[in-house]
Formats: sequence, C-alpha cells, structure tokens
Amino acid sequence: MTRVENGIKVFSFDVDGTLVDQRFADAVWLRGIPEAYAAKKGLSFEQAFEFVKSEYDKIGEHSIEWYRIDYWLQKFGLEVTRDELFKRYKGKVKIYEDVRTVLEVLKEEGYELIMSSNAATEFVDFQTRPIRKFFSHAFSATSDFGEVKKSHNFYAQVCEILDVKPQAVVHIGDHWVFDFLNPREIGITAYFLDRYETVKIE
Ligand SMILES: [Mg+2]
Repeated sequence: MTRVENGIKVFSFDVDGTLVDQRFADAVWLRGIPEAYAAKKGLSFEQAFEFVKSEYDKIGEHSIEWYRIDYWLQKFGLEVTRDELFKRYKGKVKIYEDVRTVLEVLKEEGYELIMSSNAATEFVDFQTRPIRKFFSHAFSATSDFGEVKKSHNFYAQVCEILDVKPQAVVHIGDHWVFDFLNPREIGITAYFLDRYETVKIE
C-alpha cells in the first residue's frame, strides 16, 4: 500500500526501549551519579547508591524534576557535568539492530518520521545522533510540553504542530499505556512493541 492509498503521513517512534535500549540511561542515573556522590561524600558505592535511589524515589516519576539531570547534579552538589557523564557512558548507547533498516524503508516511501519520547531532550539527542537525520522532529513530553507522561494530550499537541490529523499518524512504542492506549484514544494507529516478549500469547 502506498502513502496516498492508506492516508498515513507520519510514523512516530518512542525512544527508550524502542529505538535504543535502556543501558545508557541506567548507566548515567544508577552508576554515574551514585559514583560521583560516593566520591564526594567518601561513601562506598553501595551506600551512595542506596541514598541516591531513595532520593529519586522521594521525588518520583510523577514530578517533572525526576527527569532533569541538572536538577539532580545540583541537588547532590556534584561537580561532574551532564556532558562529562554522557561522554563517560557513550559506549553504552545502543540503537537496536533493526531500527536503521525500518527507518530507511519508511523514509524512502515518503513518510515523515518523528520521535515521541518521555525522556528529556538531552538524553534523546545524545542517544539518537547516528539516526537523527531520518527524523523531522524529536518531541520530549517532559522537556517540550512539561508533561511527565505521554498523555493523549501530548499526542494531540504533536499532531497540531505537525498539522496532521491523528488518523494520519502511526505510533510505535514499548509502553502499553503511554505508547499504545493513550495515542489510540485520539485516533492514532498505535503498535505495541514487545522486545522482551513480556506479553505471552497463548
Ligand atoms: Mg519506551
């Protein structure tokens, strides 16, 4: 089916767990930051990890600060910068093997490609550099819209910016609610991507 026949104009992709795996983000949040805190306070890594983790949990994923690395670096009084941490764990960035081919094919067919992520823009940008050229936009719910999750309102705003109807958009992602149920609420065609086969089909 060609683009004209099916009415689809835009393919939207989630980032973490869809285009890239979680290792880089985990390394920054769960290794880099506790390590820096351990060094500053003269603690063991384990002690620092417990403390940092409990502070993350106190703020929680429903607060916008939770997603802002500069907030945490400042809160813990760390001298290490975001750029230094990103560079340190650059080797952990992994774009899934099937991604490039899919993007090439869709691009060649004439679709507009976008990223729709919950992660902060700096994380998205850093991890997707090698494939950035395929995308016209990279939207971050937290950085661009001040929302902590990709709600149907997030998707509605994206459609408005792109000047397309939800019916002309396909979204693919690995979170059942934020990538599947929420975009469908406004008429986007959504596909749930299960890279770990967490859903067992009998
Ligand atoms: Mg995801």
